[in-house]
Amino acid sequence: MPTIIDGKKTSQDIKNEIAARVAEIKTEEGKVPHLAAILVGNDGASQTYVGAKVKACHEIGFESTLVRMEDTVSEEELLAKVEEINENPDIDGLIVQLPLPKHISVEKVTDKIKPEKDVDGFTPANVGRMALNWPAYVAATPYGIVELLKRYQIETSGKHCVVIGRSHIVGSPMSILMARNGYPGNATVTLTHSRTQNLKEIAQTADILIVALGKPEFVTADMVKPGAVVIDVGIHRVEDSSKKSGFRLIGDVKFDEVAEKASAITPVPGGVGPMTIASLLYNTLLAAERKVYG
Ligand code: NAD
Repeated sequence: MPTIIDGKKTSQDIKNEIAARVAEIKTEEGKVPHLAAILVGNDGASQTYVGAKVKACHEIGFESTLVRMEDTVSEEELLAKVEEINENPDIDGLIVQLPLPKHISVEKVTDKIKPEKDVDGFTPANVGRMALNWPAYVAATPYGIVELLKRYQIETSGKHCVVIGRSHIVGSPMSILMARNGYPGNATVTLTHSRTQNLKEIAQTADILIVALGKPEFVTADMVKPGAVVIDVGIHRVEDSSKKSGFRLIGDVKFDEVAEKASAITPVPGGVGPMTIASLLYNTLLAAERKVYG
């Protein structure tokens, strides 16, 4: 049986560590880290995600502020709100929940966030710093994967890492992080995407396979090298009448058959998913302690 990389437990460990540090900061400085989230509109999934982030803040002793705006809000009003939070010395971190309504430019809003408060790690400044291997806020999902590799002591140096998917929030940063000079890193990285030819043959050569293409159970056992480490980022709901909810979650990897070949694998649910909130909280702690920008 492979090692099951347990994101649920690891994220709880991280939250406990952060909570312990928050208690110390509170005693030392009389202040706790403060995260602000802007939520535009009434999208159900976005409300759930932001709700979970706010709840996690409270669990570990952070202060949080949720700013809700109508989906008719103008770009100018939203930019002005970002600016107001940028200048508020009581707030350490700011996230703007995506997606935004079509009439608002995601680029403009992202670019408005002060890099020092960009705990989602989406601004060009933080993406650039990450690529340069400088202190940076690394985006939640890639950071969560890095932390799983670290805590499970997965050897990455000299290994061939194949990343499937090149999105700005997962695949692309993951390829940079795995190639950089450090741990985890020092891997030889192949970044694959929708135009890649011979994906199966390339995937078969991976010692570490990171899958983030958003296609249910796309990676099958015949694509995986025996002994590979498999990180599944995908999340999909499929109908399942045997469940009370009427659905279950599956990933981009056909778990049962791939698990028989892999040396370690992340499950869905309970793998990469739970790590994202822990990463956001960690970045907010870094922001409160001025650890990235000094
Ligand atoms: P995306 O749709 O932005 O990008 C998908 C990428 O996959 C693209 O770069 C595309 O070129 C590539 N791709 C598409 N078809 C391909 C194919 N046949 N072969 C090779 N590459 C192909 O996706 P994303 O935002 O990176 O998300 C990917 C998956 O991860 C989704 O299922 C998403 O729900 C999930 N996700 C999970 C978390 C988490 O917290 N676990 C976070 C973000 C995304």
